[in-house]
Amino acid sequence: MAERKPVIAGNWKMFKTGSEAKSFLAELKGKISGVQGVEVVVAPPFTALAQAAEAIKGSAIGLAAQNLHWEEQGAFTGEIAPAMLKDVGCGYVIIGHSERRQFFGESDESVNRKVKAALKHGLIPIMCVGETLAEREGGKIKEVIERQVRKGLDGLGADANLILAYEPVWAIGTGKTASPEQAEEVHLMIRELLKQTPGPDFSSRTRILYGGSVKADNIKSLMAKPNIDGALVGGAALKADSFSGIIRFKD
Ligand code: PEP
Repeated sequence: MAERKPVIAGNWKMFKTGSEAKSFLAELKGKISGVQGVEVVVAPPFTALAQAAEAIKGSAIGLAAQNLHWEEQGAFTGEIAPAMLKDVGCGYVIIGHSERRQFFGESDESVNRKVKAALKHGLIPIMCVGETLAEREGGKIKEVIERQVRKGLDGLGADANLILAYEPVWAIGTGKTASPEQAEEVHLMIRELLKQTPGPDFSSRTRILYGGSVKADNIKSLMAKPNIDGALVGGAALKADSFSGIIRFKD
C-alpha cells in the first residue's frame, strides 16, 4: 500500500485580517517546530493570502485558498483565477466546501470545473464531499457521496494530484463529530470508489481527510483509522494552541 503522508489543513473561513494572519502564523510556527511527517496547510481568506505567504516563507507550512474560479481571466467580477492564486504563493485550494454548496449554489459540475482548473495550474485541490443530516437519516450516504465523488472527479487522469475531504455537513461547526467508526466507514467507501475510477494507484495514494468538529482531543482516535489520512479543521484551526494540538497528534 502506498505511504500516505498525513495532512492537517486549517480552513479559516471568513476570519482573520492580514495582520491577524501574520501574528497567528508566527505563533503557530513556534508551536509546531520540530514536528515531522505531517503536511500542514492553512487556508486564509483571499485578502490575507499575501501576508500569510510572507509569514510562512522558509517554513514547511503550505498555503491554500478557499475557492477559485475556473476561467483563466476575464469579466467575472469578484472572482479569483487559478494563476492569481499561484502568483500569491498558494499550493492548494479548497473546492466544494459544503458552505459554498449550501450558500453559494456550487454544484458537482462547478466543483468539477474548478478541480480541473486547479490541476491545470499545478494547485492541489482539496475537494470536499459530505452528506447532510437528512441524507444520512434517509439512508442516502452512499448515493450522495458516490455522486459527489464521481462527478467532482469526472474526466481526471489517474495521475491527478489531489486531496479529498469527507465532511459530513451535520458535523461542521456543530461540535458533533462523526465517530471514528462512522468516518472510517465512509472513507473506506470512498477509497473503494476511487479504485474503479480514476484507478487503483490513485486510490491507494490519495489522501482522504476527515472534517467536522475536529479537536486536539479527538484527532488521535480519528487518525488511528486506516483510511483517515488527516483532517480539515475549521473552528479549532483559528487558535495556535488548538491547531498545534491537532498537528501534534503523534506526540
Ligand atoms: C470546516 O469548515 O471544514 C470544518 C470542518 O469546520 P469545523 O472544524 O469548525 O467543524
